[in-house]
Amino acid sequence: IKHFLKPKDIIKITLDDKIIEGDGEPSSERKMHFLIYKERPDINCVFHVHPTYATAFAVSNEKIPINTLPEAALLLKDIAYLPYRMPGTQEFADVFTPELKAGRDVFILQNHGVTVIGKNIKSVYEKLETLDFVAKVVLTLKMAGERIKEIDEKDVKKFLESLKL
Ligand SMILES: [Zn+2]
Repeated sequence: IKHFLKPKDIIKITLDDKIIEGDGEPSSERKMHFLIYKERPDINCVFHVHPTYATAFAVSNEKIPINTLPEAALLLKDIAYLPYRMPGTQEFADVFTPELKAGRDVFILQNHGVTVIGKNIKSVYEKLETLDFVAKVVLTLKMAGERIKEIDEKDVKKFLESLKL
């Protein structure tokens, strides 16, 4: 139960699975973290979390419409939707491989949660916050029985191009 985590419960480990600080068992999902750092030398930060709204999409197995908000269209261009695998197993880690090779950095894990990766904590947090926010907005509209209006594809393109200048 993560509410009860204290600093002493944080276990520091090396990428070859040796404990360097702390007592106890590191997360069973560490195989996924190892694989990501191995496949992607450009990555320095991996968040694996179960935020309510994005996880709702992982459970419904529906895609999050990201062209509904400019910041989502910008930061979440390329979400990978990964099939369910038993948490903590090597198979759970292995489904990331092709998506990592394709350069993706936001992963929705079916019936489980979310993994977001990046160069630093700030960029990962920004993507994660945007992901859960857009999921929350879309689900709120669905619950209210409201239609979801996406930004026109050409306007999204224009917006993305304007930022490259
Ligand atoms: Zn998990």
